[in-house]
Amino acid sequence: MIIVMKQGAEQKDIEAVVKRVEELGKKVHLSRGEARTIIGVIGADEHMIQQTTFEVMDGVEKTMRVMQPYKLASRDFSHQTTLIDVNGVQIGGKKVIVMAGPCSVEGREMILETAHAIKEAGGTILRGGAFKPRSSPYSFQGLGEEGLRYLAEAREQTGLPIITEVMSTDDIELIGEYTDIFQVGARNTQNYSLLKALGKVKKPVFLKRGISGKIEELLMSAEYILSGGNMQVMLCERGIRTYETATRNTFDINAIPLLKELTHLPIVSDPAHGTGMSNLVSPIAKAAVAAGTDALMVEVHPDPKRAWSDGAQSLTLEKFKQLMDELKPVAAAVGREI
Ligand code: PEP
Ligand code: MN
Repeated sequence: MIIVMKQGAEQKDIEAVVKRVEELGKKVHLSRGEARTIIGVIGADEHMIQQTTFEVMDGVEKTMRVMQPYKLASRDFSHQTTLIDVNGVQIGGKKVIVMAGPCSVEGREMILETAHAIKEAGGTILRGGAFKPRSSPYSFQGLGEEGLRYLAEAREQTGLPIITEVMSTDDIELIGEYTDIFQVGARNTQNYSLLKALGKVKKPVFLKRGISGKIEELLMSAEYILSGGNMQVMLCERGIRTYETATRNTFDINAIPLLKELTHLPIVSDPAHGTGMSNLVSPIAKAAVAAGTDALMVEVHPDPKRAWSDGAQSLTLEKFKQLMDELKPVAAAVGREI
């Protein structure tokens, strides 16, 4: 952290700040410029120190953090993008990975039909919710273990790895028996006990940005999983809540290139939840690929009008095929493959 003293700050104010830094167990690097003095705070774990500790002191103009509060998630930790291998599918490489499937697994036939269509169209990972985080307790909550069994059967038939959401630490063991990737949804991004528990699992974690989550909060949530020992984490931009109500969420395209700068973790984009409207999914998916996303997650349903959840943002099987074809030249234009 850097503490910038006011122009003409008194010597006793500078000394008081230096004393406070030392009391906190850190070293001081003092730089006396012509106009003002700058005090550098040196030492590990500087994020444990509140900036306000100094900002309230006499003679202090402002403080700035030098190190990011997240360490293991930071680009400084690894300049190479982390490659996550899921049954031979690599997320974070040249190929843009496409995860697709229904919002919820509604039954055996529908997930098998969807999985085969996704495979044929060139999709790489099958998604489907079995434990659903619904805003209303009266809405369909998912098929639970039955849904996991159908997903596993779809993987067996198609070879597509599967991803499904985990909402509670109680379900980690059960879901872990079936899934290849644990999805943490936007409502659980800051469920720290869940994140800590996922730091101990041996499978990749797909972490969504919170509904009103800041980028730094997303990275700090990832840090919980990484610091527990699980380095296989990918981050997902899924739209944030803004004042705009014309769309379900506002897809934050800025997040993609910014996260690519800030972290080595692979970035996934979810234009389905990011827009809430199936007609916007394809243009935003293309924009995300152009902006540098490592993977996409889209919702696909054989009959979106009859979907039990998120039908309005789900692509038909035909539209999904069309999207896959249309993404190819966009990926090629930015040096990627689909
Ligand atoms: C989902 O992927 O179906 C889902 C519930 O997403 P989110 O957590 O982004 O709302
Ligand atoms: Mn959904």
